[in-house]
Amino acid sequence: MSEFYALLGVARDASEAEIKKAYRKLAMEFHPDRNPAPEAEAKFKEITEAYEVLRDPQKRAAYDRYGKAGLGGSAGGGYGFHHVDLSEALNIFMRDFGGLGGFESLFGGGRQRADTHRGQDIRVTVKLSLADVAAGIKKTVRFKAPDRCATCQGSGAKPGTKPVTCTTCGGSGEVRRAARSMFGQFVSVSPCPTCAGEGVVIQDTCEICRGEGRVRAEKTVTVEIPAGVSTNNYLTLRGQGAVGPRNGPAGDLIVMLDIKDDDRFERQGDDLIFDLPLSFSQVALGVQVKVPTPYGEEEVRVAPGTQPETIVRLRGRGLPVLGQSSKGDLIVRIHVWTPERLNAEQERLFQELSKHEGEPPKRSPGFWSKLKEALGA
Ligand SMILES: [Zn+2]
Ligand SMILES: [Zn+2]
Repeated sequence: MSEFYALLGVARDASEAEIKKAYRKLAMEFHPDRNPAPEAEAKFKEITEAYEVLRDPQKRAAYDRYGKAGLGGSAGGGYGFHHVDLSEALNIFMRDFGGLGGFESLFGGGRQRADTHRGQDIRVTVKLSLADVAAGIKKTVRFKAPDRCATCQGSGAKPGTKPVTCTTCGGSGEVRRAARSMFGQFVSVSPCPTCAGEGVVIQDTCEICRGEGRVRAEKTVTVEIPAGVSTNNYLTLRGQGAVGPRNGPAGDLIVMLDIKDDDRFERQGDDLIFDLPLSFSQVALGVQVKVPTPYGEEEVRVAPGTQPETIVRLRGRGLPVLGQSSKGDLIVRIHVWTPERLNAEQERLFQELSKHEGEPPKRSPGFWSKLKEALGA
């Protein structure tokens, strides 16, 4: 079960990035638009097939355990593993690497097929609370997007009829022309004008989708949102967007995040700030208070003689760091509040206290403006 790894020349424990890099390098070498050798096309299909399995963690795990058998046949469910044909291989390459870059413009032709055939990306916004961010959450999103036409199975052809192979391009969807130039011989490839690059021509169109191969639909997708996300993160669910016309590859579902402010906390990256107002007598005598965290309340011991604006840091009680097991801190900022109105009894007590307060302690310059971080918290 190391065939796919060997094809890409990567180790069994290669990372996703390594697999992607190895495939890209080989694809640039064997891409039929770059490599006119007759065996290049077959090689390009093979490496793309290997890449398509290994880039997907679930398919890769199935392949690691059971080999190609673990991927299931196209008829028997599973991952519908099948040998990719050239157009699929080119689409996969286009999807992940966007073509050959400057190469295409130099050699003309270009490859619009994957673009015209691919369904649109769909953008949805998911609302989250801070508790959702702290714990991670599964959200179900519903959106309108074209889906495969069930009547014609996405082919666009009237049931009982079949699209016929395009005679202009013989089904490849592209017209190639070999030409000579001062740089040597090269092959120019362009989409077939007869079938618009599809390789087939529909003679009787499906009446339900009018040959489009897809119909209006509402889709429901469950999105797993990891803990620690922030508003500028978004998730891309490959192939969960709109399906392409006539069984073209589906676009992506792009999930934007709208995180509602939690008025208890101020978020600062993975840290949360909580403002704790304490009375003069509480900070003078010391006090044990409960403060909220995203994971429930927590006791904080405030030492006798704590100064205003002291910071108590509760380590690991902030938000999870995205993609890691660590968490930020909950920063408790202690403020001292002064009563705005006194009743008779309070007034008497403050009068009494004022006789015993004495002088302010001697402090070094700058002490009063400095934020002091409490130790041992
Ligand atoms: Zn149809
Ligand atoms: Zn054609």
